[in-house]
Amino acid sequence: MTTESNTLLSEDKTTAEKKAARILSNYVGGRWVPAQASGLVDVTNPASGEVLARVPLSGVADVEAAVDAASAALPDWRSRSVGERTEFIYALREKFRQRIDELAESVTREGGKVLSDARAEVTRSIEVLEVACASPMTMQGRVLEGVSRGINTETFRQPVGVCAAITPFNFPVMVPMWFLPFAIVCGNTFVLKPSEQVPLTSEIVCHILDEIGLPRGVVNLVHGAHDVVNAILDSPGINAVSFVGSVNTAKYIYRRAAEKGKRVQALGGAKNYMVVMPDAVVDKTVSNILGSAFGNAGQRCMAGSVLVTVGSAKAAIMSKLKEEAEKLVAGDGRDPKSSLGPVISPAACERIHAAIETGLKEGAELLVDGRRPKSTPAGGNFVGPTILNNVKPEMRAAREEIFGPVLSVMHVNSLDEAIALVNSDPRGNGTSIFTENGAAVREYSRRIEVGMVGVNIGVAASPAYFPFSGWKDSFFGDLHVHGWDAVEFFTRKKTVTSRYFSAGTTGKFFTEQGDKH
Ligand code: NAD
Repeated sequence: MTTESNTLLSEDKTTAEKKAARILSNYVGGRWVPAQASGLVDVTNPASGEVLARVPLSGVADVEAAVDAASAALPDWRSRSVGERTEFIYALREKFRQRIDELAESVTREGGKVLSDARAEVTRSIEVLEVACASPMTMQGRVLEGVSRGINTETFRQPVGVCAAITPFNFPVMVPMWFLPFAIVCGNTFVLKPSEQVPLTSEIVCHILDEIGLPRGVVNLVHGAHDVVNAILDSPGINAVSFVGSVNTAKYIYRRAAEKGKRVQALGGAKNYMVVMPDAVVDKTVSNILGSAFGNAGQRCMAGSVLVTVGSAKAAIMSKLKEEAEKLVAGDGRDPKSSLGPVISPAACERIHAAIETGLKEGAELLVDGRRPKSTPAGGNFVGPTILNNVKPEMRAAREEIFGPVLSVMHVNSLDEAIALVNSDPRGNGTSIFTENGAAVREYSRRIEVGMVGVNIGVAASPAYFPFSGWKDSFFGDLHVHGWDAVEFFTRKKTVTSRYFSAGTTGKFFTEQGDKH
């Protein structure tokens, strides 16, 4: 069969798949409703190109319907006891545990990551749910008796109102779960705009919310892209916005939402450096570096995308790094033999290829070539592990977030030089240092301008009971994701100062009326 007839067949297949594909609905006020959309976008399996569904590009009217539902649900929801709201989070956690395989398979099907990574993502979501269950403790305020004679002052935490989250493609369930449980357990109602590239796992979450009997309108889902985001940012009914995505979008969201008087937390993209000192334990360091650089095909905001060797660490690790990287296999995430899955889209694939070619033109050495990975499934967006060696700070491979399985390697002579290099990057999400030298760790952790530091740990993402806290262009706002910051973000404080004229100040009630107790 000719290439031309093959192409025609595959075009026919895509058209047939599109016709058969389900058009997704929004979830508003506890009902699945068709969007008043101006267009549709294909949701595809990145390992095969198969069209899984079609996502509507909702508009202002769809967002306003969701905001109306969330506003209508707010008075009853916020007046329920903290314990009652927490019960729903316990129930959600139980459902996540029971349906971990279904959720993980959905993450792999629409996002591409290998199943073990997808399960880890659901497990991280369960951890967030567990932390949110501590709200009867974490939502407590403070009280001081006797700020003046007979006068107490107390601070309560109250919900902010209607909160919205706008999420990226690379963690279809975990990133929405960074916000949803904390928002609702604190008494807010919620509107989610998932990435249009991975909307299907959020749909499952809404079905689960239905099953646990969450009151209608407490959580709403609106599909779409830029128009939905702009409608959220401009809606007078939305009080707080959480965003996760690339740097430029984060900056834009932060500015526009803040201009409209909303509370905002906007997490941006990253370029994460892994510094290897001469005394690092070679085998374990190499396996951590590979996991960090190539896990989820490099599409993690915490992916170690730049390796910096210090002094003799270069000689110690480079040959092992190449040898081990060449053993990694790109393939369908459902295949247990795959070390890494596809990247999210043909456009991402092209962008990553272009970044590799630019690196080579600018003088980097191709230590491991993943441009044409062997025996990957047809129709998928595959790039194999790629290592660019001798990258210089001025090259694009050092400056841009490639967001694919490409590791840039740089060599310096001292820890001071490494620190200066890392601090010269405008982003500051995560970083790792590999060494057994405690003094080097202290120095690095103290001086580095990055929010999350790993010591002999490749992906230093903080657990859900600590804040996930990028710095500089990786984060715009004050309060980070999860940990105590989540309760701060999703509540506002009210301080009440009170006295009662009928109460005495000497330990006796009603002394002015002459009663004695
Ligand atoms: P993205 O910025 O393209 O999209 C994120 C969300 O914003 C999506 O829902 C999308 O529909 C919307 N959006 C995109 N462009 C927009 C625009 N111009 N106006 C309005 N809305 C817009 O990001 P992505 O490609 O989905 O995700 C990858 C990026 O996210 C990477 O840069 C990665 O580092 C970053 N990320 C950061 C973190 C973190 O914790 N800092 C976590 C995960 C991902």
